[in-house]
Amino acid sequence: MKTETLKTKNGHALNGFSIEDIGDDHLFTSLDTPMKANAFDMPDSEKKERISILFSEIMDVLGLDLTDDSLKGTPDRVAKMYVEEIFSGLDPKNKPKVALFDNKYQYNQMLVEKDITFYSNCEHHFVPIIGKAHVAYISSGKVIGLSKLNRIVQYYAKRPQVQERLTQQIANELKTVLETEDVAVIIDAKHLCVSSRGVKDDTSATVTTYYGGVFNTPEKINELQNYINS
Ligand SMILES: [Zn+2]
Repeated sequence: MKTETLKTKNGHALNGFSIEDIGDDHLFTSLDTPMKANAFDMPDSEKKERISILFSEIMDVLGLDLTDDSLKGTPDRVAKMYVEEIFSGLDPKNKPKVALFDNKYQYNQMLVEKDITFYSNCEHHFVPIIGKAHVAYISSGKVIGLSKLNRIVQYYAKRPQVQERLTQQIANELKTVLETEDVAVIIDAKHLCVSSRGVKDDTSATVTTYYGGVFNTPEKINELQNYINS
């Protein structure tokens, strides 16, 4: 087992945790997705070409016959899927553009968008995380289109992720676009790296929450839970 000392971006050492501990226990080191400074210097077309070459190497090492008609196109398909679909949320150019509208109806209670289905991938194993996100906010005078709440969830889900970070990233984005601290995010998800491998627990689910501003009171949490369970 390796015993390197890991450091988070703000310099906190994760002393005592090995690289393997980090993966097995799904610890994470930073609220920002760890990215290289030059992450987007390479155009998408070149990324797809390179991933395709590298993925065919993985398949070849595994002993798969890449001349077989069924497998031939797989490296290209995987490359396209990584860049254009399941990891497209790494690239800020794909971030949903959100327009604010005046809260004409003066609706000043909580707005809850529940059961937003999302698919993400665990950054430690690159296998799926499948779950539902519930997001809520109380308008500070501005509102956004309901579909944008969904799009914000999908954008941050389409990255190699850990659930705690996904929760925080969605909450931070909502706070920024809605210009309020009064946002809540609840994520209930199943991690295939827990159910299909490792401890092979098929029934457990992971719940993470963020309650900002006025949501961080027992009454509001209760009210929100009631809407979600209704
Ligand atoms: Zn995992």
